Amino acid sequence: MPQEPAAPQVSDHGGGVHSIKVPIPDNPLGHTLVHLVDTDRGPVLIDTGWDDPASWNTLTAGLRALGTDVSAVHGVVITHHHPDHHGLSGQVREASGAWIAMHAADAAVVRRTREAQPGVWLDYLCAKLTAVGAPDEHIAPLRQARASGRARTLPGLRAALPDREIVPGDLLPLAGRRLRAIWTPGHTPGHVCLHLEEAHPSQLPGHGRLFSGDHLLPGITPHIGLYEDPDDGESTDPLGDYLDSLERVGRLGVAEVLPAHQHAFAEPGVRVRELLAHHEERLAGLLSLLSAPLTPWELAERMEWNRPWGQIPDGSRTIAVSEAEAHVRRLEKLGRVVRVGGSPARYHAV
Ligand SMILES: [Zn+2]
Ligand SMILES: [Zn+2]
Repeated sequence: MPQEPAAPQVSDHGGGVHSIKVPIPDNPLGHTLVHLVDTDRGPVLIDTGWDDPASWNTLTAGLRALGTDVSAVHGVVITHHHPDHHGLSGQVREASGAWIAMHAADAAVVRRTREAQPGVWLDYLCAKLTAVGAPDEHIAPLRQARASGRARTLPGLRAALPDREIVPGDLLPLAGRRLRAIWTPGHTPGHVCLHLEEAHPSQLPGHGRLFSGDHLLPGITPHIGLYEDPDDGESTDPLGDYLDSLERVGRLGVAEVLPAHQHAFAEPGVRVRELLAHHEERLAGLLSLLSAPLTPWELAERMEWNRPWGQIPDGSRTIAVSEAEAHVRRLEKLGRVVRVGGSPARYHAV
């Protein structure tokens, strides 16, 4: 990929919408685009960025560069609970008294993460990895961490509880603006996109603009794994949710998308079709791999990733196997694979 040119940290998207590039430390994604929507009661932020002093400094300097101040922020609308989006929300609220709004399903994840004992979480993770056929050498370090009580702090452990619920289909309480919540589960159970139902400032054809969070990005396919809920049965189908959400967002026919990473782009229909085709192709590929019964772990080992399986570190393998499981779950719901008995369970194309 070509090197991105050095860009200013603040961009003017017109019509009272700006973005601030807030860095994510040690992460190939580079930055979160925190959007700022001017309202009659002060600026409202869409997402806040990673909880790190350098990220905080960039966010607050960006607000000053835009002629305002973090203390003036009126509200915070969160697309989803991930730490690169919701990390700084608590600090923004402390500095400004702003409200924080989030969809109930992601608020439940925040609550659960805050209350979870790291040990209980590790027990859940070990059991889950065993069930999908992870080898002993992958699980052993987690068991050791559990036994020694040296459980690593989970990201999001200190995440702020929201004050307001984002209700799908409702307008958010933004004085003088029309911002509607579009529930787009898949990447997380409570992910929302925000539809700014106002004419495009440069008259691009289409219906307003969409703050798409991680749901719709110009050059990245968002991670779709199983929702990390220890109480989750086998009924959820995050990939099915995601594909439905994509089609729904495509039908909005917006003029421009303002995503939370990379850059703004027009003609979202093209990108939606690309992503739908990508997932269709991937599901077809997995189906042919499953002509022999495989555990989700064995499937993950055979799937295509951004590098060979042997070079993928343990933490990322755990995420990859969750993605493999989400695909298997989708194929199972479609009646294209069946579970064959045994422990760990294997899956077979029918
Ligand atoms: Zn995310
Ligand atoms: Zn993100």
